[in-house]
Amino acid sequence: MLVVLESEVIPMSYVRCLRCKECGAEYPASSTFTSCDEDFGPLEVVYDYEAMRGRVTRASIEAGPRSIWRYRELLPVDWEGAPPPTGHRSGLTPLVRADRLARRLGVDELWVKDDSVNQPTFSYKDRVVAVALARAVECGFDTVGCASTGNLAHSVAAHAAMAGLRAVVMIPHDLEAGKVAAMKAFGAKVVPIEGNYDDVNRLCTEIADRFGWGLVNVNLRPFYTEGAKTFGFEIAEQLGWRLPAHTVLPVAGGTILPKVAKSYRELVTLGLVEDTPARIHGAQAAGCDPVATAVREGKRDFRPQKPKTIAKSIAIGNPADGPYVIEEIRRSGGWADSASDGEIVAAIRLLAETEGIFTEPAGGATLAVAKKLIDSGRIPRDEPICVGITGNGLKTIEALDYDDGRVEREVVGAIPARIEAFAALI
Ligand SMILES: *Cc1c(COP(=O)(O)O)cnc(C)c1O
Repeated sequence: MLVVLESEVIPMSYVRCLRCKECGAEYPASSTFTSCDEDFGPLEVVYDYEAMRGRVTRASIEAGPRSIWRYRELLPVDWEGAPPPTGHRSGLTPLVRADRLARRLGVDELWVKDDSVNQPTFSYKDRVVAVALARAVECGFDTVGCASTGNLAHSVAAHAAMAGLRAVVMIPHDLEAGKVAAMKAFGAKVVPIEGNYDDVNRLCTEIADRFGWGLVNVNLRPFYTEGAKTFGFEIAEQLGWRLPAHTVLPVAGGTILPKVAKSYRELVTLGLVEDTPARIHGAQAAGCDPVATAVREGKRDFRPQKPKTIAKSIAIGNPADGPYVIEEIRRSGGWADSASDGEIVAAIRLLAETEGIFTEPAGGATLAVAKKLIDSGRIPRDEPICVGITGNGLKTIEALDYDDGRVEREVVGAIPARIEAFAALI
């Protein structure tokens, strides 16, 4: 649906095409699409791994930039011309051997992949946005934006500033005040919308269409999602080129979990890691857990929910890639569960007190679920575990107010979730 533009950029070196995840229809990689024309399935970037073999090696990666771009051959960007203007400080975040936390949880080998210190905006979103906006520049967009639960808009605002693009970001009206202030600091136009993320997202599909903008999680989505693979590449590289037996990841729109699974498969395909069992587990907040519910009930599809949780950055009740999260969890032999707001806050404090890492509720939910999976025996105590921490606690100080019973804080000036209201404002 919606071919925004045929660009004349040089073909991205190892990228073969975009392929629909549902029907397999193929599209040229030199265009931007929202989804498949045939069945609206999401599009996936397809690479020529044969051509990479022997050229993309452990040594070549280790000799690369100290950022996500060390994996550039496995990303949909063109390096024939100038390097992209984004992402040079993103990625290669610490993989922390968390022994004190491991003792508290009663496990032998525990690692924390710490994107709470990712750059420039302290969440995993800097990975996906760096790739999407690199592609936006190649495609010639002058305005970029997104539908966001907060961190995405923050990152789009910062990367747009870096790349000299105009940013217009659409957010639910009830986001944390600190995140909104931070977006504005980068010069982005921030449009609060009455409604939840799913309302905002629907509106953004119309906005991309009407205004011809590059929206990172709408018409740049096939490129955006690829950036999430770098989270998995780094885990494997930083473990000394091996896969953790268990990886626990948060689930919001459903990008990071399937893409980490893809990253592990690509490393195996290229012979960079051994093909050892790598179970991937999903974590959600109990106040918004469509995917965890489906996994617990043994269903292949999920029922959308209305979010109500302090974990706003992962409060997506109708996740675009939810079915693929369920598929990857099953395929890897993993599981999914959810944590209450109280458990999330307790886990935030536990991580901070044991490892000196201050995460936001998404990270609290992930650690809380990891603990449940360990306690229930789904994750054996003697197998290596990696917990993915995806955001920084300083951005969501309000969440700790939960203990005092204060949860909601509203941003003023929201517009209704209707295209006419948006057009009038713009
Ligand atoms: C966006 C986000 C996630 C995961 O989102 P997906 O859409 O599932 O990739 C996790 N944690 C934080 C802090 C986020 O901002």
